[in-house]
Amino acid sequence: MELIMETYEKSVAEPEDTMTDQEVIPVQESCALPAACAKPEVQRVWKKEQMELFAVLMTEDRKLVLGGDGRADSPGHSAKYGTYTALELPSNVIIDIQQVQSTECGGSYHMELEGLRRSVAAVEEEGLSIGTIITDRHRQIAKWIRTELPEVQHLYDIWHVAKGISRKLESLAKQKECDAIKPWIRSVVNHLYWSAVSTESGHGDLVAEKWMSVINHIQNVHEGHGDLYPSCSHAALETRADQKKWIQPSTKVAVKVEQIVGRKMLVNDIKKLSGQHQTSCIEAFHSLLKQFAPNMLVFSYLAMQSRVTLAAMHYNENPGRPQAETKEGQLRFKIRYPKFKKGGFTVCKENPHMVSGKYWV
Ligand SMILES: [Zn+2]
Repeated sequence: MELIMETYEKSVAEPEDTMTDQEVIPVQESCALPAACAKPEVQRVWKKEQMELFAVLMTEDRKLVLGGDGRADSPGHSAKYGTYTALELPSNVIIDIQQVQSTECGGSYHMELEGLRRSVAAVEEEGLSIGTIITDRHRQIAKWIRTELPEVQHLYDIWHVAKGISRKLESLAKQKECDAIKPWIRSVVNHLYWSAVSTESGHGDLVAEKWMSVINHIQNVHEGHGDLYPSCSHAALETRADQKKWIQPSTKVAVKVEQIVGRKMLVNDIKKLSGQHQTSCIEAFHSLLKQFAPNMLVFSYLAMQSRVTLAAMHYNENPGRPQAETKEGQLRFKIRYPKFKKGGFTVCKENPHMVSGKYWV
């Protein structure tokens, strides 16, 4: 630990990156970059690949759909570096990656916006046009897109909203007389996904009405929800074997659930949920990044940048591979339970082969 702190201070004190990885990091053997991955060379190769990506996207003659998210090198407000990933969602490729140092932008809280700002500039400088940006509900970013990119549609990733709701309901279920909500939590979260995914883009009010109908539904009321979504879409429920106990109207738990589900700020955000594209691939990339730049190790600015860039190039090697098929020619999917979803799941296309790891270190 002492060695880590010593090298950390050393790297903070030196703005110029004059150290090698081996000098800066008390690394395990597996974390050392081979000489072939020298830092300037990594950036040169990435720039070339990025320009090729831009050229391909330019030929597609459409506006980009960017998913963006930041990852700090340590939790809380003590982070030194932030990585901002801009991924073109329909093509599933990372088109820009920014390494932001907290001292460059007035503190770690501002790193995420700074990263997005730089990614947008990098993309627009090359003449590409951004149609949609999908992020979490970072307020600073929402304001910046609203004021600086008025032509761009800003949508929210469902999972980021869902995990907040789930957390609130879990906490409610622990309160006195409120445990009746516990068996409903997964259904309520699924209902949020369904509300967004089943609605055509641009109909936020309908998404919100569908969402709010869950308050009635869990009380066994399936009609009279609103003008846009008057009654539940499900079939008759009598035949269901796993019938959950309905929430009784006007009880403490019913009132509290209504407060959580119907909170004005939440409902306004739900109107902006992205039904078509989600950013879970960025979360997956950030998990991959941990293997290139483990959180418990300290890196100099350029060493970190090289690792982040190598991870992005490695990721970009993966998409585009054909999806695995069954003998009958049907596409194969698999369910994954990634750690960052804390018990939640993702349905993934199954790839026939693992990538060879061209950039693996
Ligand atoms: Zn219903």
